[in-house]
Amino acid sequence: MQSGDRGVVVGLDNGGTSNHATVLASSGQFLVDRLVETPSCVRDGPDVAIEALVQALDHVLELTGMPRTLVRAVGLDTPGPASADGVISSKGATNFAEPAWHGFDVRRSLEARLGVPVVYNNDGNAAALYAHHVRFGPDAAQHSSISAIVGTGLGGGVIEGGRVVRGAAGMAGELGHIHIPMQGLLRDGQPLPVCNCGFTGDAESIASLTGIEKNLLPYWLTRFEDHELGRVEPGKAAKLVRAYGEARDPLALEIFEQQAMAIGRLFTIAANYSDPSAYFLGGGVVETAPLFREWFLAKVREHTALREEQARIAIFALVPDLDMAGARGAAVAALEAIG
Ligand SMILES: [Zn+2]
Repeated sequence: MQSGDRGVVVGLDNGGTSNHATVLASSGQFLVDRLVETPSCVRDGPDVAIEALVQALDHVLELTGMPRTLVRAVGLDTPGPASADGVISSKGATNFAEPAWHGFDVRRSLEARLGVPVVYNNDGNAAALYAHHVRFGPDAAQHSSISAIVGTGLGGGVIEGGRVVRGAAGMAGELGHIHIPMQGLLRDGQPLPVCNCGFTGDAESIASLTGIEKNLLPYWLTRFEDHELGRVEPGKAAKLVRAYGEARDPLALEIFEQQAMAIGRLFTIAANYSDPSAYFLGGGVVETAPLFREWFLAKVREHTALREEQARIAIFALVPDLDMAGARGAAVAALEAIG
């Protein structure tokens, strides 16, 4: 598409409670500069949720004054696990527990409903693509990057030559389930951390909210016996660790140091495997106070073992505009697809 064309693409980021939407002009300019949120209704099953996506699209178009006839394509992202072209796992997924979702082709269904091409990515890949494009702009195709996004789990994506690496089954970039060395990361007597996926000692078993709740906090509470978090229900306590970290609480800093070390070790694997130009870090930590997030990013970098030649050129940065990154990345993918 030439920049003189008047067409636009819409990016839709589908989440557990809300859809985020954006509009991207063919010139590469976003026509929405804030978070536009509508209910996602995913718990009501696919029929209701597809209509909610249509409403999200109409709502954001209305805000920008664009008629639907100008939409050339739609970029859609959802949490996984799903195939590379948007078929939800046959076992369902955290956000797609309703049986009607199992094996549901969300991309094709939305495409049929809208009558325009729909381009699918999982949410980690969409955010990774956005971080890459913001950093490298018109040179995106000349660079590669890896993004680790710490949330309930550890997601992210791998970008090579400006494009998402999807893999044969759509399962590339599942960074959370890569095994990392535990030697020197765990303290004496600290149990081996277990991940929801069944692995022991993968990156997510440490660097995720679930990892804090199941593995890190139970151990560190035995080392800080009178800590107030010991009197809070575990799920709630895990969520509070971030605020304690910002307040420089010693227990919380031990937890974040272990998380930074886990991500650094993951990035070290990436450095030796594909040697990317940039290492991006996203997730809840990006939303913390600037001093704390800079401390955390510096810790990640400290624990990433790069060769001298790599260290001279490697970029370490936070994923920008985190709450909009999914929708914006989905839109970038759609614009590229109709190129
Ligand atoms: Zn795992």
